[in-house]
Amino acid sequence: MEITPEYVPALEQWHLADDEAGIAWHMLPMLTTWALTGTRPDDPAGCYSYRWCFSDQRALLAAVDQFDPATMDEPSGHVKRKGERRQAPNRDAHPEYNRDRCAHGKYVADGDCRHVACEAWTFAPARTP
Ligand SMILES: [Zn+2]
Repeated sequence: MEITPEYVPALEQWHLADDEAGIAWHMLPMLTTWALTGTRPDDPAGCYSYRWCFSDQRALLAAVDQFDPATMDEPSGHVKRKGERRQAPNRDAHPEYNRDRCAHGKYVADGDCRHVACEAWTFAPARTP
């Protein structure tokens, strides 16, 4: 995603870009990480729907450079995901980036999520590396 960072003092964050769907992408520091957020234009309160945290600002910017919101569900390299699960409008263009994931971020086909309440949880035995 091509960005033109602009610091927004009122929000204490950087506006990076608006994508084709009108989602506003922002970068902001968290307590121990840096977050990339996506806010839909129709959100009545202007709150983000998507958030991914990165270990540092450099990792976030590197991920954003490779991230195409039109074809990729989420950027790579994040250490934590919050908010809604996102599906890119043209996700079929990059199936290698857009395999189905459960709410906890694990690939459903791998069956290795350990959250007991996960909708994708199975009784498959633990895998050995
Ligand atoms: Zn899960």
